[in-house]
Amino acid sequence: MATTLYHWKNGETFEGTGGRFSDVTDPATGEVSAQLALASPEDVDAVVQAAVAAFPKWRDTSLTRRTAVLFAFRELLNARKEELAAIITAEHGKVLSDALGEVSRGQEVVEFACGMPHLLKGGFTENASTGVDVHSVRQPLGPVAIISPFNFPAMVPMWFFPIAIAAGNTVVLKPSEKVPTAAQWMAQLWKDAGLPDGVFNVLNGDKVAVDGLLTHPDIKSVSFVGSTPIAKYVYETGTASGKRVQALGGAKNHMLVLPDADLDLAADQAINSGFGSAGERCMAISAILAVGDIADELVSKIKQRAETLRTGDGRRGCDMGPLVTAAARDRVSGYVDAGEAAGATLVVDGRGVSPDADGEGFFVGPTLFDHVQTDMSIYTDEIFGPVLSVVRVASYQEGVDLINSNPYGNGTAIFTNDGGAARRFSNEVQVGMIGVNVPVPVPIAYYSFGGWKNSLFGDTHAHGVEGVSFFTRGKVVTSRWLDPSHGGLNLGFPQNT
Ligand code: NAD
Repeated sequence: MATTLYHWKNGETFEGTGGRFSDVTDPATGEVSAQLALASPEDVDAVVQAAVAAFPKWRDTSLTRRTAVLFAFRELLNARKEELAAIITAEHGKVLSDALGEVSRGQEVVEFACGMPHLLKGGFTENASTGVDVHSVRQPLGPVAIISPFNFPAMVPMWFFPIAIAAGNTVVLKPSEKVPTAAQWMAQLWKDAGLPDGVFNVLNGDKVAVDGLLTHPDIKSVSFVGSTPIAKYVYETGTASGKRVQALGGAKNHMLVLPDADLDLAADQAINSGFGSAGERCMAISAILAVGDIADELVSKIKQRAETLRTGDGRRGCDMGPLVTAAARDRVSGYVDAGEAAGATLVVDGRGVSPDADGEGFFVGPTLFDHVQTDMSIYTDEIFGPVLSVVRVASYQEGVDLINSNPYGNGTAIFTNDGGAARRFSNEVQVGMIGVNVPVPVPIAYYSFGGWKNSLFGDTHAHGVEGVSFFTRGKVVTSRWLDPSHGGLNLGFPQNT
């Protein structure tokens, strides 16, 4: 019988009063594995109040004690990451090695946040004016909300909460209702690491929960990751209610392959980035721009490799797992139908794949199109599935123009052995994260992650120093201590002397 999953408030399970539930499925078998409680507006308030109550004490807890909890969390996570990876595979479907990779990338942000004492150091200026000193500090915001997508149940929340917590904030995490168990598991891990109750809370739900957080007067900031229409909505609603918002949206990532590129490397990396996690990565390559006369050879190399991939249950050592839901599978196959109907050449067809899995999982195998035109929906839309489209372009410039005219600007990659071309590309391409012979250029934790254009609403990227800045507010203190020289009235604007 399927279990029921609830919220996490004040260090324990909170059943709430929502009375609505959604199914959580195992995408490799199609079986319902759990029922998830969906929050009511009252549940939102109850969970937020736990974060409100925990804030004053956590804010005033010394940096030494706060970071000691971060170190303990890191050690527990490192020791038990296989458990978390198994949870991710069971609900998302990505293969175990990929799930483990996601946990490791999240762990790197925890490690970055362990350095919070250094990151929060302010400046000090002695004698800025005669007898006057100035120093700056950064303070936490208060209770903050994190709203995450289905495709990285552990890593995306970990882009935010280690930094938020280490900086002295309290957190309400609203995970995707498709993959809720990882958040529950991490909540228990925080408790085991010694985090005081109420500092990290989990609210499960749908639009009701999101709207409740976006308009709640006690929530000070919102970090959102998801599709572009919802990201835009979250940004507009959250900022209209006076909150600081960073809302990361969808993507359409291009790989530009120049004629001098190593085509074996390019083909390997097209496969890895296009079909890893069944294409359900915001940094997945989905369009390959083949410059000049290399297209036939490149397509043939990608085809050969795609046909060797084994699709199936991520627990069985396969290369590629299922899509997250039946609806996602149907949407992706619908795009393949549309691409074929529009006249693109279907080189590898993933529809009707025979997966290595039991039951009725949500599979589409690796799919490759050639001769894709830029007005076809397989090119214009974010498919979020294992579908690669090759667009043949005549020149470097035609490729760059396509990338720069795309409404998204999350990631892109150039494949070339020409350093000058790579440098020029990095300089002029209108995209936030760029790879040079690297297909999934996800920045390391101490840099910041974020796209341009419709891939990010707000001006602060995730983690790195921008993350620290997002989760803190600056203060500058100007002080003078009385000495015999003080005194006198002066109503003019303070001038430094
Ligand atoms: P989604 O937008 O459907 O859901 C994201 C979150 O929003 C979930 O927590 C969900 O419960 C909530 N939500 C869904 N519908 C809502 C509504 N109508 N009102 C308010 N909240 C709502 O996204 P998803 O399908 O879970 O994730 C895939 C998308 O996320 C893709 O577009 C992908 O590119 C994007 N993504 C972007 C990044 C990035 O860094 N830019 C990273 C990961 C995923």
